[in-house]
Amino acid sequence: MKLLVMTDIEGVSGVNGRKADAVGNKVINTEAACRLLTEEINAVVEGLVEAGASEIMVWDGHGGSNSIQIENLHPAAELFISGGDLAPVTCIDSSYDAALQIGVHATMGVADGFMNHTFNSHAVVNMWLNGERIGEIGIGGLQCAYFGVPTILVSGDAAACREANDFFGQVATVETKKALSRYTVQNHNPIQVRKQLKEQAQKALSGKAGFALKKLAGQFELKVELMCPNMADDYEKRGAERLDHNIIVLRSDDFLDLWAQRNGWAPGVHNKKFNIQR
Ligand SMILES: [Zn+2]
Repeated sequence: MKLLVMTDIEGVSGVNGRKADAVGNKVINTEAACRLLTEEINAVVEGLVEAGASEIMVWDGHGGSNSIQIENLHPAAELFISGGDLAPVTCIDSSYDAALQIGVHATMGVADGFMNHTFNSHAVVNMWLNGERIGEIGIGGLQCAYFGVPTILVSGDAAACREANDFFGQVATVETKKALSRYTVQNHNPIQVRKQLKEQAQKALSGKAGFALKKLAGQFELKVELMCPNMADDYEKRGAERLDHNIIVLRSDDFLDLWAQRNGWAPGVHNKKFNIQR
């Protein structure tokens, strides 16, 4: 069985953050944060190996894809680093049996979401897919579902777990902490969290058949409210419809093409270049 472990860092127990200025989140790739993240991933990998995983790819999904300590990574896992230049093409494809999201956080604007943001707190105010507000958990889930890969476990703060359950309908979760605000948080003991991650990863992979695949619509419309109007100018130049000074709309009948447009590709180019067919 081949597994994809998608990762972020804000949702790891003990990972600390502060506001950088009035707007964004301060970079938190400290050595301690990276070590705590790697430890949580290793606990997940242990559980997956126990449940019969034969191939495990860990995707370093935070910021510049430079958060996981490869020298401390569990020997059963390989590490995928994305330079961002080709985004959204990733290591996800239809060869995987299931995916997990570890250390994730809630969408921008969720009051009790620790360090809540949507991809870039200096650029994205919010996004709506076919009228529903969507964040990183949802987008990650849809990228996997696009290739027929179900998401079987999500870990992060209480708000991220709630968001995952709302989005996927029902999915196994491990709560790592509980936030009172964007930067004030009660961390669960990291040793206990790792124990749960191992147990739940093992259980989730063993019961994989119980996880439904998220259904994809046939037509997609992504509305993006950007932080600054010049960001909307860039999308408008590539053909996006502009609704407002800083709101644009992207459209496609293919989810990955839509997401590629959000990442700066002209419509239709990304999937053709990488020969991606559903
Ligand atoms: Zn994130």
